[in-house]
Amino acid sequence: MGAAMSTGMVFDIKEFAVHDGPGVRTTVFLKGCPLRCVWCHNPEGLAPLPQLMRGAAGSRLAGRTYTAQELAQRLNRQAAILQACEGGVTFSGGEPLQQAEFVAAVIDRLDGLHVVLDTSGYAGEHAFQQVVGRVDLVYFDLKLIDPAAHAHYTGVDNAPILRNLRRLADGSTPFVIRVPLIPGVTDGDDNLAAIAATVRDLPGLLRVDLLPYNQAAGAKYRAAGMAWTPPFDPSRPLNINTTLFETANVKVSVA
Ligand code: SF4
Repeated sequence: MGAAMSTGMVFDIKEFAVHDGPGVRTTVFLKGCPLRCVWCHNPEGLAPLPQLMRGAAGSRLAGRTYTAQELAQRLNRQAAILQACEGGVTFSGGEPLQQAEFVAAVIDRLDGLHVVLDTSGYAGEHAFQQVVGRVDLVYFDLKLIDPAAHAHYTGVDNAPILRNLRRLADGSTPFVIRVPLIPGVTDGDDNLAAIAATVRDLPGLLRVDLLPYNQAAGAKYRAAGMAWTPPFDPSRPLNINTTLFETANVKVSVA
């Protein structure tokens, strides 16, 4: 029983990452996500099982099984350098909370490394608390506050996400809110003002990061043999309105 619960499906491990949390980090990308954001730039992270990626350089299989012990050993080998660079390990995806049992088992085997959870916030309460209670910092995505727009553009209801945000604020783990700015989808003043109003008084909030849309998404979809027909104009200029956050007394940065 224990062995089955402590294996996980990983589609990438990125070393010397500098955008996934403080310092220099090793980022583990867990495969499988319950959302289908129309702007997702990690198509190989969506399905829970391994899949063949075809690119100009040939084919490769995305997705590999690790035991918790095997992954922790690999991460622990870099502990000295990660600590010297005031970094650590980040669990991202896909949605890492889809494999909460596994992520918790890996964290329990780390040699005191600083851990960030990078999550969509979409998970059951048990999975959420199981991992959040073990990490030092959470990167929590907020995409759209309007429930209908959220369902339309991500495929899921945002009520579980907002419930987990409240649980996060009720706990003791500090967090950063990350807002992907997608032209004409999430970057409207109404949505940004609603996000500012949602987070402004939450205990534990360090800041809001606005993440401008990266146009490289399309090529990855083609490599995964998936259609890429975004229902927005990727070249439309973004509305990067930091003032809405500043006037709500929320610390904000543009990544
Ligand atoms: S939550 Fe992240 S990984 Fe999942 S579909 Fe959305 S952008 Fe992609």
